[in-house]
Amino acid sequence: MAEFDVDVIVIGAGPGGYPAAIHAAQLGGKVVCIDADNTGGTCLNWGCIPTKTIIGSVAALEQAKHAADFGLTMSNVGFDFGAVMARKDKIVKQLVGGVAFLLNKNGVRFILGRGKIVGPNTVEATTEDGKVEKITAKSIIIATGSVPMHIPIPGLDQGGADGDVWFDNAEVKKRKAAGTLSNGALWTSNEAVSAKEVPGRLAVIGAAVVGTEFAYAYNALGSDVTMFEVMPQLLPTIDSEIAGELSKLLTKSGIKIMTGTKVVAIDLKAKKLKYTSEKGDGELEFDKVLMAVGRRPFTDGLGLEEVGIAMNKRAIAVDEYMRTNVPSIYAIGDAAGGGLAHVATREGEVAAENALGGSTKMDRRAIPACIYTEPEVAVTGLTEQQAKDAGYDVKVGRFTFKALGKALAINENVGLVKIVSEARYGEILGAHIVGPHATDLIHEVCVSMKLESTIEELMHTIHAHPTLAEAVMEAAQDVKGHSIHTVYKK
Ligand SMILES: Cc1cc2nc3c(=O)[nH]c(=O)nc-3n(C[C@H](O)[C@H](O)[C@H](O)COP(=O)(O)OP(=O)(O)OC[C@H]3O[C@@H](n4cnc5c(N)ncnc54)[C@H](O)[C@@H]3O)c2cc1C
Repeated sequence: MAEFDVDVIVIGAGPGGYPAAIHAAQLGGKVVCIDADNTGGTCLNWGCIPTKTIIGSVAALEQAKHAADFGLTMSNVGFDFGAVMARKDKIVKQLVGGVAFLLNKNGVRFILGRGKIVGPNTVEATTEDGKVEKITAKSIIIATGSVPMHIPIPGLDQGGADGDVWFDNAEVKKRKAAGTLSNGALWTSNEAVSAKEVPGRLAVIGAAVVGTEFAYAYNALGSDVTMFEVMPQLLPTIDSEIAGELSKLLTKSGIKIMTGTKVVAIDLKAKKLKYTSEKGDGELEFDKVLMAVGRRPFTDGLGLEEVGIAMNKRAIAVDEYMRTNVPSIYAIGDAAGGGLAHVATREGEVAAENALGGSTKMDRRAIPACIYTEPEVAVTGLTEQQAKDAGYDVKVGRFTFKALGKALAINENVGLVKIVSEARYGEILGAHIVGPHATDLIHEVCVSMKLESTIEELMHTIHAHPTLAEAVMEAAQDVKGHSIHTVYKK
């Protein structure tokens, strides 16, 4: 009899867990994957895909509104919010089904249920109808993700339908099916992607990626949007020049962005909030208030304490092999302190290899981070300020899309590419883009950084004309003062 029932148990089937399960199976492992919600996790069901699908409709609407700029005539341009959300639900369903299909085709056994670790090699899976199955495995990979975060603003603890909106994904699914999600005045991202109508007035607390994307989308759909951010800039972690450019464009589109401003009280019944800033205090009335202040790792009820798993604040502590302090247990994705789907996926592949006896390290060079507003934002590596603070002799190159033929041809000639490099070896340290298709363009620089190529290699790579990617090449040329389409002072 085999020592264990299976080789690997993965708890969680999000963009960390399902690739981990599939990769472990590709490598010949016998694998079980458990999730209390559908396959696909936060990313497919409540995060990346629902938001980008809604934004896909919004971007098409914006294009249609600007039809005259292309010489086109179009009348009655508008939208049916129910149809926008139905399209979103259909795409989510298709992708969630696709993940279930892939797990199945790779021979992974999927259990719809809640997993609990009851020993270094044992997991108990409890299905919705209360059936409990104990499974043993050589290795366990924890991929239980995250949930929206609370912050202690007075008034948020009022209770009832408005006050207790922080659920895990399985509970969110139940409430959505019962029609009780999104009914109150307080939203998290879960309610915002499940809305039945566009709120007249939307207050957004937090101007990081999630808050900014919803502000962009709901503003374009007609909400009167006000954003509150306690830090001094929109997108606090993004290069200030890039964030400043997006801030200008979003303000022009009608969003009120209140940076350096703290929301100090919320009255969910009266639908009013109070804020304070150096410029003065004030009140705002809203129909919905979206709490977008971040997410926290979700490890509730997982049995971590019982097996002695070490934590790093609320996240599971892991080494560069994605291993916890318990040698048979790995942790990946948001549960291990991440916050990006694509990073969770690579961590899943690394954990799968190591769970089956490998020794693959997680390489964190050149991770892209993207914001799907219009125009898009995409960044990788160090900002100019971070590079200076790290002691580099920094050389920066820029190129604006307004000078680029392809950007003019598609009527999307706003924004810029900024490349940060160091003078001595020409090493590329980072890239920061706000502009059309920024989220696709960034990967050219990610590959360059991964291969440790120099600024010369990037600028001498022949780029097709006319393309948006030429802006990356010209920004690299600008580092050396050799951008052909830039006029330099003599
Ligand atoms: C609105 C929004 C937009 C986003 N947009 C992007 C984006 O554009 N790009 C990007 O890279 N990231 C985006 N993210 C972040 C991204 O969704 C997460 O980083 C990613 O989903 C993390 O993957 P994961 O596999 O670690 O966890 P999750 O996707 O959260 O999956 C964890 C799974 O574990 C399950 N689970 C938890 N506990 C148990 C248990 N005990 N037993 C069984 N199952 C359990 C949950 O049901 C869930 O399905 C967005 C997030 C939000 C909220």
